[in-house]
Amino acid sequence: MPAPILRLALPSPLRRLFDYRAPPGVPPALLQPGVRLRVPFGRRVVIGVLVELSGHSEVPADKLKAALELLDPRPALPASLLRLCRWTAHYYQHSLGDTFGWALPALLRQGEPAERREERWWHLAEGARPDDPRLARAPRQREALQVLAQHPHGVPQTLLGKLQLNKASLDLLLAKGLLHTEVRQHAPRERHGSWLLQAELPLNDEQREALEAVRAGFGGFNAFLLAGVTGSGKTEVYLQLIRQVLEAGRQALVLIPEINLGPQTLERFTRRFNARIALLHSGIGDRERLDAWLAARDGEADIVIGTRSALFTPLKHPGLIIIDEEHDASYKQQEGLRYHARDLAVVRARQEEIPILLGSATPSLESLHNAHTGRYALLQLRQRAGHARPPRFLRLDVKSRPLDAGISPPLQQAIARTLAAGQQVLVFLNRRGFAPTLLCHDCGWIAQCPRCDARMTLHQRQRELRCHHCGHVERQPTACPQCARVDLRPVGAGTERTEERLAILFPDYPVLRVDRDSTARKDALPRLLAIIHRGEPCLLVGTQMLAKGHHFPRVTLVAILDADGGLFSADFRASERMAQLIVQVAGRAGRAEEPGTVIIQSHLADHPLLVQLAEQGYLAFAGQALEERRAAGLPPFSHLALLRAEAHRPGQAEDFLEQAAAEAQHLLDALQLSGIELLGPVPAPMERRAGRYRAQLLLQAASRAPLRRLLGPWLAVLERLPGARTVRWSLDVDPVDLY
Ligand code: ADP
Ligand code: ZN
Ligand code: ZN
Repeated sequence: MPAPILRLALPSPLRRLFDYRAPPGVPPALLQPGVRLRVPFGRRVVIGVLVELSGHSEVPADKLKAALELLDPRPALPASLLRLCRWTAHYYQHSLGDTFGWALPALLRQGEPAERREERWWHLAEGARPDDPRLARAPRQREALQVLAQHPHGVPQTLLGKLQLNKASLDLLLAKGLLHTEVRQHAPRERHGSWLLQAELPLNDEQREALEAVRAGFGGFNAFLLAGVTGSGKTEVYLQLIRQVLEAGRQALVLIPEINLGPQTLERFTRRFNARIALLHSGIGDRERLDAWLAARDGEADIVIGTRSALFTPLKHPGLIIIDEEHDASYKQQEGLRYHARDLAVVRARQEEIPILLGSATPSLESLHNAHTGRYALLQLRQRAGHARPPRFLRLDVKSRPLDAGISPPLQQAIARTLAAGQQVLVFLNRRGFAPTLLCHDCGWIAQCPRCDARMTLHQRQRELRCHHCGHVERQPTACPQCARVDLRPVGAGTERTEERLAILFPDYPVLRVDRDSTARKDALPRLLAIIHRGEPCLLVGTQMLAKGHHFPRVTLVAILDADGGLFSADFRASERMAQLIVQVAGRAGRAEEPGTVIIQSHLADHPLLVQLAEQGYLAFAGQALEERRAAGLPPFSHLALLRAEAHRPGQAEDFLEQAAAEAQHLLDALQLSGIELLGPVPAPMERRAGRYRAQLLLQAASRAPLRRLLGPWLAVLERLPGARTVRWSLDVDPVDLY
């Protein structure tokens, strides 16, 4: 019998597998899908993942190379992860090897062993007690023993530092027989006592109904959308569900948006559970990430919490997936593999036959549509938990009113009243910097980015002009570069300008700005939050950083300075995003005893969407917005794929897309596919960005199936087009941003 051919995914953008012979001397039984191998590839040696075995190869036998080395004694990637990655690569039309590049911890891609490291663990000896008389005059040892007494599983060597355990004290305790240590590879399996460190809150009726509904769906694939107003106790429902998952001997995977992974979220989990929690987010090191991944894969982490890419964490005993703030844009990756972690999570839950819970106060229109059509069960929490009351919405028409750094006179009065009453005010403006434009009053010159079709934002404090699209920075000019006169004026307001103005208008109160610039330093945000939580009257000015996850009990007035962007924009998702932002920002207000007010400034204060949002709430708004999408044939009532291209010379990208469109038309005819429209190519809304000219071709389909049938063969053709190597191009399936 001929030896089987190994088919590998390699780190390459090419959408195909690569054939190799087995490395010499390796028993065939070890060559299972999911193992990693080192192979020669061109002039390099790379690490690939064995995807399948085959009886034959298209490559002639004498050209077929042998793999060099098997890296894993057992598959590093379990079958479930392999399957999810294959689905992902196929759906997003991405190379499988590169998909692994995004899905796996960096150290695994670099060939690090895929097994937990052996570690020394420290335990209390049987019967050892912190009040042991031998420790009467050894306070440090006594303290160390007290800390260890709180960890019945023992503490691994690597965590000693974090727990402020000093090795010298431990050695002395060891010598006294009060501790013992052992080297082992795995965390212990046996459990001590309860999963709970903290009592659960008694649920209200709506929470209990939601909990029961999801629990009834345990053990199989079931998708739930938990639409609960801000502060309605969604997190409490998650926590109680997770406890039941743990009791069933299973693991829970919780995804949260990028920006939410504050200590607040994590703390609620660690305070609640006596469980092993693995954390996966952008702030952790490579080694930590691999350890967390391995612990999850081997069933040694009970709860996995992470941001977008944590979706690809394998679980030995999967029990439940929770996507918090499921509407959040950070779940969609905007580069390379353009996947949507929420959508993939639903696929994963189906593959692994487990329930999934999507939660949000402002569900995406996609998820609401899925709830309306019965694909997801809709669970609602209409009331705030505890005593907090919902905020009151006021639309404030600013047409022909003077705006002072974005603030109208009635708003200014409302702010003054709130501060005088000893409460806090949150002013929301989704634009950082001082002013979005710098204009010469004499000749009309405008500060443009030299590399983009965009204006540069003035950052007055740094005396800089910055492009928010490509990062280009220039000194702030003192005279007009065109006419040399000196009457340069900032136009419009960003957070910096509003902050400055508020400080002048309300000199007796601190003004705190929270945006990407003011929190660039690592300790800046916690410092600002600490001041806010002291509860004294103050003004917060900020961008969407303020909208997410925070709890500001003393904020009773929220002002949205400018709701117009969401109503004017050409992007069909703009109004949805604006509504989500308004509701989320509003949700920061009055979460404790005092009721909150939300003032929305707009030039279109009577716009039906705004009226609906303010008077009937988010779900009513969403219903109306969905009707508009249906009428216009836009997602979720149609399906999009966007082919983007960019090149150094004008016209190049369009030429490539013209050819791509022609090829698509051929294929549509040849495959007899209907219901797909090709829109474009057209220049991108911002044609030049970072010095490249960009264009796009949009595919819009009434149903998903024909689009999926087209994309595979189409991309195979595109890869071979003459222009494919001179322009930079990418396909975005289910694009969120049409830019
Ligand atoms: P959400 O996740 O929907 O924003 P949280 O779970 O953070 O809401 O709950 C908001 C606040 O209400 C928290 O302080 C939480 O402790 C409290 N809370 C949640 N559920 C209950 C309940 N059943 N009874 C009393 N307080 C609750
Ligand atoms: Zn000028
Ligand atoms: Zn730029």
